[in-house]
Amino acid sequence: MQQIIDRGLTEEQRMMRQTIRAFVDRDVIPFIRKNWQLEWDMKPENRPSVELLEGAHKIGVRTLGVPEEFGGTPVDPKTEVQTFAMIAEEIARGDSGLADKLVQIWKISMLLRNIAPRHLQERWFPRIADDPTFLLAHCLTEPRGASDRWLPYDVPEAMMHTKAARRANQWVINGRKQFITNGYDAKLYVVYATTKPGAGITKGTSSFLVPRDTPGLTVARCNETMGGRFMNNGEIVFEDCAVPQDHCLVQDVAMTKAGIYFKPGKIIVAAKNLGVGMAAFERTADYVQNYVQGGRILIKHQAVATRLADMATKLTAVRALLKEATRAVDAQSHDAEALCNMAKMFASVEIFQVCQHAMELHGGNGVMLDFGIEKLLRDASLFLHRDATVDISRFKIVKAMFPNTAGVYAGPEK
Ligand SMILES: Cc1cc2nc3c(=O)[nH]c(=O)nc-3n(C[C@H](O)[C@H](O)[C@H](O)COP(=O)(O)OP(=O)(O)OC[C@H]3O[C@@H](n4cnc5c(N)ncnc54)[C@H](O)[C@@H]3O)c2cc1C
Repeated sequence: MQQIIDRGLTEEQRMMRQTIRAFVDRDVIPFIRKNWQLEWDMKPENRPSVELLEGAHKIGVRTLGVPEEFGGTPVDPKTEVQTFAMIAEEIARGDSGLADKLVQIWKISMLLRNIAPRHLQERWFPRIADDPTFLLAHCLTEPRGASDRWLPYDVPEAMMHTKAARRANQWVINGRKQFITNGYDAKLYVVYATTKPGAGITKGTSSFLVPRDTPGLTVARCNETMGGRFMNNGEIVFEDCAVPQDHCLVQDVAMTKAGIYFKPGKIIVAAKNLGVGMAAFERTADYVQNYVQGGRILIKHQAVATRLADMATKLTAVRALLKEATRAVDAQSHDAEALCNMAKMFASVEIFQVCQHAMELHGGNGVMLDFGIEKLLRDASLFLHRDATVDISRFKIVKAMFPNTAGVYAGPEK
């Protein structure tokens, strides 16, 4: 598998990968294995340790996406998303939740680099770059459901319930966002709200930059998730939360600009998912070559061998599709939309199965919390639901491929 992973990487990417792999092998994997009980600590502040964020900060992996002039780690813009994918996979190989925490910084920094006014970039990027615990969050989802936004279902009744209204020289936000990655402990939020009720999502939704300490912003809860538990997913309430007028990033047509975030976002989600699958494969390959049943190591039993072959084939297929999609996104090619949704959707389905094989090949050990294999299946399960569900991703693929005939996939046809 190692040759496949390295094939096609530039020298710079290969070196970056080695540095991150060393960090993951030396610091992340031992921490997670030793502190497996922390996952179940109901004090979100304890998950995961600040040391891991500081370690990630030291090797420059936290500030990818932040412009170099503000202290970010330089990345070749021509292959930026390919680099993000490679690094996201490596970190998720150590822990999916830690990868979630970090990649939000890259994705949101990329968005801010493109849409935030210069003076806000000058204010926030240096803070993001300097503080190892500075996390970012991107708030779209609301209690009434996210699929309409992903499609998007562009009619008045599917608009966001969170609203923002102009009052003097401020925007006042009211509403609630749920299921937000880093929502519990972010220091800066990008928040989407309806500003033109009745106009439909694409013409009446604006995006805002909201600092954590803004009066009226309350972190209502930390969601206790099945997997990815070292990332604190949160719910946020806005009650007359007023931000200065210039904190409106995109007025009314924010959803038409969100592709800057979404396309690399799908790639990075698929890459994290691949990292979880690789961890499952590596652990299983090791186990079946050492554990003896029926007088021989497991790999010599043919039924075990065929499962291992299936795992390797699925991972290789995910990697190949991901590579293709990543190149398309970096090249801003017209098929990028379909390809990044394919990669995200295919990875989630295939890698869930890879992790299921891993669990079964470990026998009873596979379901023991302290053995760490069942964690991979739990982590993999989240990918079926986030950044659009499997079915919504399928609709998006068909819509991208057949835009004139595919329909709206929600509500009555026009
Ligand atoms: C771990 C995790 C992290 C997340 N992080 C973030 C984040 O950082 N920011 C953020 O904004 N959101 C985030 N989300 C939310 C995520 O994007 C949504 O959960 C996801 O898009 C699904 O939306 P929903 O939960 O509202 O499901 P719903 O939209 O309520 O869908 C429920 C079911 O109905 C199906 N469905 C819906 N509409 C249709 C249709 N038209 N036709 C057929 N079937 C349909 C769906 O496929 C699904 O099976 C996160 C979610 C998770 C689990």
